[in-house]
Amino acid sequence: MAKIDYSLERYQRQKLATPNGEKSLLLHSCCAPCAGEIMEALAASKIETTIFFYNPNIHPQEEYLLRKEENIRFAQKLKMAFIDYDYDQDNWFERTKGQENEPERGARCSTCFDMRFEVTAQYAKDNGFSLISSTLGISRWKDIEQINACGARSAGNYAGINYWDFNWRKQGGSSRMLELSKRENFYQQEYCGCVYSLRDTNRWRISKGREKIERGVKFYQQAMLDIENQ
Ligand code: SF4
Repeated sequence: MAKIDYSLERYQRQKLATPNGEKSLLLHSCCAPCAGEIMEALAASKIETTIFFYNPNIHPQEEYLLRKEENIRFAQKLKMAFIDYDYDQDNWFERTKGQENEPERGARCSTCFDMRFEVTAQYAKDNGFSLISSTLGISRWKDIEQINACGARSAGNYAGINYWDFNWRKQGGSSRMLELSKRENFYQQEYCGCVYSLRDTNRWRISKGREKIERGVKFYQQAMLDIENQ
């Protein structure tokens, strides 16, 4: 059987269909690199998508603004609606109190996903959407089952709101995500987002004899060129 070429340039995208024929989707987005491939796939399938940017976990604020601006830039390119929601960091810190030392993929991340999905589902209900999903699951650093459980739990709070648990990693989604990030020269964040993930990634890097993260300087295209020139 011929091997399928999943590359951005040559892959013949499958037309996506929403679970119950919903015409529109409220897509929670965490950042441009995770969202890019998904946004392009949805646009190609003509699924009317609204991007919902609600990520009070991201610390510090300059990092939050940088990630958000990258996402806005790509939404404008695709002419997709973009909802710039609250940066209610105080609530995020309040909810994750006592979970400061949880590892990634642990209880703090469930709290963090729950919070983001709860607000997404509430917004969907208040604004006439019946389907929500998120870009969080495309990253191989994340536990997709943990994310889907949080998404389904929040959608389940409202009659008439469904959570779409489509696996965006499959059929080359993960590799196209990187290709697209390079093509668009997206900002490349080097930690998940919260102050604790920044702390833990720095600790890990120091243990490996590497420098601490320098925020705001790495972009995919440049990062790829650096690797090619090594
Ligand atoms: S590591 Fe990432 S998912 Fe987990 S709490 Fe921090 S920002 Fe949220």
